[in-house]
This record gives sequence, C-alpha cells and structure tokens, in this order.
Amino acid sequence: AKDKGRNNYQFYSVSLSAKNPELLTLEKSLRYALERNEFTLYYQPRVNIATEEITGMEALLRWQHPEMGLVAPSVFIPLVEESGLIVPIGEWVLRTACIQNKIWQDAGFPPITMAVNLSLKQFCQPKLVETIATVLEQTGLEPQFLELEIMETTAIENLDFTRTVLEDLQQMGVYISIDDFGTGHSSLSRLQLLPLHNLKIDKSFIQYLTQDAKVAHIIKAIVTLGHSLGLKLIAEGVEKEEELEFLKSINCEDVQGFLFYRPLSVQKATEILESKRPT
Ligand code: C2E
Ligand code: CA
Ligand code: CA
Ligand code: CA
Repeated sequence: AKDKGRNNYQFYSVSLSAKNPELLTLEKSLRYALERNEFTLYYQPRVNIATEEITGMEALLRWQHPEMGLVAPSVFIPLVEESGLIVPIGEWVLRTACIQNKIWQDAGFPPITMAVNLSLKQFCQPKLVETIATVLEQTGLEPQFLELEIMETTAIENLDFTRTVLEDLQQMGVYISIDDFGTGHSSLSRLQLLPLHNLKIDKSFIQYLTQDAKVAHIIKAIVTLGHSLGLKLIAEGVEKEEELEFLKSINCEDVQGFLFYRPLSVQKATEILESKRPT
C-alpha cells in the first residue's frame, strides 16, 4: 500500500540574496539552534520497485525556528555550510540517524540502511573518517547499515582526495552513494575509479521524464552505465505512477519520492515500519 499523504508542514523560505537582512538574522539564530534543540530529522523511505519493500531511509534535516517555524534545508544548509557550523550540526545528524537506525533494529524491524547526506565541507574535513568510526562504535550500529550520500559535485571536486577518503570508508564497511547524479556535468567514467555502491539519479531528470522523450533516453543510459559499473540505481523525486512504470521497465532498483512516501517524522516512520513488520 502506498502512502500518498499530504505534506503536513510548510517551509519558511527567504530570498537567498547575500544582502538580505533576514539571512543575517537567520545565521545568528543558527548558532544557537543546536544547543536549543531546534533541529530534528525526518526520514524518507526508499522503496525497492520490484518488491515494494522499504530498503532504507534517508535522514533529512529540519530546523524548527521558534518564531519562523520550519525553515527549509535549501535556505539554512548553505548558511551553515558557509559559517562552518555544518561540522557540529553534521555530526549531530550522523549520530542521531545512527541511533535511530539502531533503535529500529533493536525493536526487531528488518534491518535497513540509513542514508546520511554529507556536504562538501563535511567531506573535506580532516576528521571525517575518525568521526564516523567513533559514531558507529558509540551507537553500536554496524557499518553496513550506514550509507553516506555525497553529491556528484563534491566527489569530482578533487578526485584523488575523494578516492582516499572513500577507500577508508569502504574499508570500514559503510556504503557510499553519489547523490544528485547527472547535475555535476561529470561522466561516469570519471567516477568509476571510486569505490561506490549506489547512484542516485537527480530528481530534475525524473521531473521531466514524462514531458521530454530525450530525458527518458538519458535516464536509461545512466541506468545501463551504472549497472555496467556494478552500481545500484536509485531514482529520487518519483511522484507519478508513470515514472515508476518507466523506471521499472529499465530495471532501476529503488525509488524515493512522494509517490510512496514523503519525509516522515520519527513517529510516522516508526508507524510505517510497524505496519510492514513481517508476521
Ligand atoms: P537531497 O539530498 O537531494 O534530498 C532529497 C530532497 O528531495 C529532500 O528535500 C526531499 O524532501 C525531496 N524529495 C523527496 N521526494 C520528493 C518528490 O517526490 N518530489 C519532490 N519535489 N521532492 C522530493 P529536503 O528535505 O528539502 O532537502 C533538500 C536538500 O538539503 C537535500 O537534498 C540535501 O542536499 C540537503 N540536506 C538535507 N538534510 C541534510 C543534512 O542532514 N546534511 C546535509 N549536508 N544536507 C542535507
Ligand atoms: Ca540526499
Ligand atoms: Ca538528491
Ligand atoms: Ca538535491
């Protein structure tokens, strides 16, 4: 059964102009947001097309501002990235997501992977590998149940550096995905030297799939190439049945999108897992 539930929150959004005084105010309150417990994680299920089983969840950061309400990640992530706050906030995300996955496993749900997004600054931070190892050890989550999502643009910024970091992470046993694939203007041949597991096709492609026949060819080519490199394909932003049918016909493995689930609060996500618990 698919949950086509409506969005139950509305994001506060502002113009991203650098001179916007609202942004300066936001940046100030971001400094205190962590200690004031204003962040929460939402979880969006990833679904296997063939079995319709949930194979994983992606942790998505939400900021509940006391006056402005929920602020969209597209507004505040660039601000925390710029100010360096992304490092402590990112560590909080990683720890919280790992703890949650362990809670679900301990509750007896079939094991799933927890995907965590890493920004460019987080990825380039010298202590990243050490931090991840520490968090896994402290939370008791086995590494194969953690997946790190790195944007294509981050990965290709410095391929030698990326390879060094990813090799360490692979050795540790965590999974690696390339996020927003297709937006970085790189070719798969440049990524093939990296130890990767999954490729996430950016939602902008899925959006135009039913409008533009060329886009269908591009998606098909990405899936074919990805498979030839031994990668699993995940399509993001799937909203329509037609999109799902096409992705199924080209053997894309997993999907994420509003057609199945929106990002869910921890309570809602737990209810969904509960309702799917094998009996
Ligand atoms: P992303 O990693 O590409 O995450 C997917 C985004 O697509 C999410 O937006 C999700 O809510 C949205 N989405 C999922 N399914 C659909 C769909 O069917 N249709 C449409 N239109 N959208 C869909 P969200 O949660 O607003 O996050 C935006 C971006 O903010 C993320 O894009 C990611 O780059 C960043 N972000 C979110 N949480 C974190 C975090 O904890 N750390 C870092 N570094 N970045 C994060
Ligand atoms: Ca992502
Ligand atoms: Ca993405
Ligand atoms: Ca994106």
